[in-house]
Amino acid sequence: MSSNEVSPQQRPAKVDYLRIATEEAFAPPDLFNMYRKLLADGKADTGFASLWGFHFSSQAPRVQHILKYNQDLDKLRIQHMDEAGIDMQVLSLTSPGVQAFDAETAVDYAITANDYLAEAIKKHPTRFVGLTAIAPQNPAAAAKEIERGATKLGLRGIIVNSHTHGEYLSDPKYWDIFAAAEAFDMPIYLHPSSPPPKMIEPFMEVGLDGAVYGFGVETGLSALRIMTSGVFDKFPKVQMILGHMGEALPYWAYRLDYMHRATVAANRYESLKPTKRKPSEYLRENFYVTNSGVAWELAIKFAQDFMGVDRVMYAMDYPYQHVVDEVIALDNMLMNAEDKKRFFQTNAERVFKITR
Ligand code: MN
Repeated sequence: MSSNEVSPQQRPAKVDYLRIATEEAFAPPDLFNMYRKLLADGKADTGFASLWGFHFSSQAPRVQHILKYNQDLDKLRIQHMDEAGIDMQVLSLTSPGVQAFDAETAVDYAITANDYLAEAIKKHPTRFVGLTAIAPQNPAAAAKEIERGATKLGLRGIIVNSHTHGEYLSDPKYWDIFAAAEAFDMPIYLHPSSPPPKMIEPFMEVGLDGAVYGFGVETGLSALRIMTSGVFDKFPKVQMILGHMGEALPYWAYRLDYMHRATVAANRYESLKPTKRKPSEYLRENFYVTNSGVAWELAIKFAQDFMGVDRVMYAMDYPYQHVVDEVIALDNMLMNAEDKKRFFQTNAERVFKITR
């Protein structure tokens, strides 16, 4: 969809809440060239090569839209936001961000990307806030960048795109990242990435590795590993955010609690230790969910019922899912005015410390 396809009568109505979209992507000008080089050098993971190899060779309008608007943090994006009635975007470096690179490149480029983001926010302080990109490849450097994002750049959280070359934040070698997130009160948005090589084959052979399904189950696994590894027992104040209606985990909660307890009690796995709380308790006390990519009232209401109305936030997933009609559909949800305002505005203001 290009901007001139949005006619005035399709615009969302004026409402008495702000619409803050919380999972909105961008790419600095050189990121896609670095991705092209990674592909040319044969150094990309299977999933990355499949997705970005396609993006860089396709002329499909959706792909062209994604490539073009990821790279704009100025007039074009603001115009799209105005047309869609989006007051603010919470910006994050597009997936997989720096996690596609080797450690050294990733550490350097996270700094570059965060500086670039901070400049764009400085230019449009009433329209943008942003999350700190980090390189999990070097947890100590990532912790430093979290500190810099919080104290020097005015960023409001951390973006992590699930696994890094098949490794998960549940591994204690990454836990400096949680310590820094807790110390600087920065929520971690756990965003999808393509499944890692050991997981992706059965998805790819039927074309289901992408946002249609593979991203969601892989990211759900990533979040669940963090819960069952005891991260929140060690860092109880850490708050994480899951998009796409919590990557379905709220819907799983009953079975997760039952079978996690049963498996731990049966002593089946050395790697599955007891945790202080149940998966459902971590979900409700250490996670927020957004509806990125899911403009579906039924799912949003289920999440509000399960998580609590203070833990469900609006997201569009721009520029990947840029659909003005979805904003209108969500404005029209049958929901009391207070809860709708929590969903669109005040939860995000609280989580991302947005003051106006
Ligand atoms: Mn997204």
